[in-house]
Amino acid sequence: MNAHLHPFTDPRATEVAPPREIVSGEGVRVTDAEGNVFIDGMAGLWCASLGFAPERLRRAASDQMAKLAYYHSFKGRTTDVTERLSKALAARLPGDLGHLVYGTSGSEAVEVAIKMARYAQAGRGQEGRTRIIARTGAYHGSVTMSAALTGLQYVHDGFHLPASDVIRVGRPHWVDEAGPGESERAFADRLVAELEEMIEAEGADTIAAMIGEPVMGAGGVLLPPEGYWEGVQEVLRRHGILLIADEVITGFGRTGRWFGCETYGIAPDLMTMAKQLTGAVFPLSAVAMTGAVRDSVADRAHEFGMLGHGVTYGGHPVGAAVALETLAIYEEMKLEERTAELGARLAAGLAPLRQHPDVREVRQVGFVAGVQFDSAETGLRVGEAAEARGVFLRIVGPTLAICPPYVATPEDIDEICRVLIESAG
Ligand code: PMP
Repeated sequence: MNAHLHPFTDPRATEVAPPREIVSGEGVRVTDAEGNVFIDGMAGLWCASLGFAPERLRRAASDQMAKLAYYHSFKGRTTDVTERLSKALAARLPGDLGHLVYGTSGSEAVEVAIKMARYAQAGRGQEGRTRIIARTGAYHGSVTMSAALTGLQYVHDGFHLPASDVIRVGRPHWVDEAGPGESERAFADRLVAELEEMIEAEGADTIAAMIGEPVMGAGGVLLPPEGYWEGVQEVLRRHGILLIADEVITGFGRTGRWFGCETYGIAPDLMTMAKQLTGAVFPLSAVAMTGAVRDSVADRAHEFGMLGHGVTYGGHPVGAAVALETLAIYEEMKLEERTAELGARLAAGLAPLRQHPDVREVRQVGFVAGVQFDSAETGLRVGEAAEARGVFLRIVGPTLAICPPYVATPEDIDEICRVLIESAG
């Protein structure tokens, strides 16, 4: 029997066929215990933006470890490097989002964003606003509240999650969810109208926030239809509901701009980030809040005599040092220009699939794409065939997700596309 219960895996299956052990990495490639080399077309789990053995991040971590390997930010203390990271992020984040709470994972950032939204609502006299709107097909994590917000059944099955805290609305997946002849714009308008109907039926005074990924990732790389975010924001604003942008995947260049919110004209009240914040080299996440939210949170916390939240490793100095170096590398590579170039190469490579008889849709923004096949069976077949040919992609239902590291060369991108096309047959 395996000593390790693997995430999102059938434990009985691993007793028969043990998982592939990855032992080393270099750039966009990883090598398994048998010496097979793969291009990871998914940057691990949408996260290893600078590849699998980034020298500068290793050095940043080891230098920080030699100087101060651990300290916390509780009760009147902090570390110099965590404060430097806060200033660097505040300067980079859009709008007035430069007020931060740190954690260690994306799920944790989501949990904390919910707590902050509730504090903020109570801080402005709206204590009854506790529930959260989330969408079908969303992925927000797999702890307790973050799993409840996730709109994928396999994350819920058997766990008795706090479902009564969540109000579910539809996903913006035009090709699958639009009515006959419904244009993209009409579809977006309908979703916005349904959101408002739901808010009125449930009572706006019971709702703290809505959470959404600017581009839905694990739900199938779903791009928002035109007018969608604009309409959603207008409805939320009118009903006093905060908007939490979950940028755990979309943050740090993935959609072409530094943040997905900038790509789609979203002005959230809170934002979560993780993954590419440190190139995935160290577990670090953050929740960013606007000054107004931060003030209401501070008022509420003051009533209790403290912000009653904190985790041992939040804002870890080694993570902060790695994040600072990651941000410096992004600046040097001219992140937005780089992802535009990489994205153009990917779009050209994927173009032939648009005519493929088994392909329903090719979706792409910036340097992330999804190729939706006609069924989950085809998606699985093509994904497995690509792995057998040396390219890892992520199979999410009928869609294969593609999200390579930013250190991919044009030739690496061409190889991913060639293997995908060959695998599609
Ligand atoms: N939010 C989004 C949008 C995600 O894609 C993920 C993970 N893929 C999470 C939250 C959870 O992050 P983690 O796995 O680090 O807990």
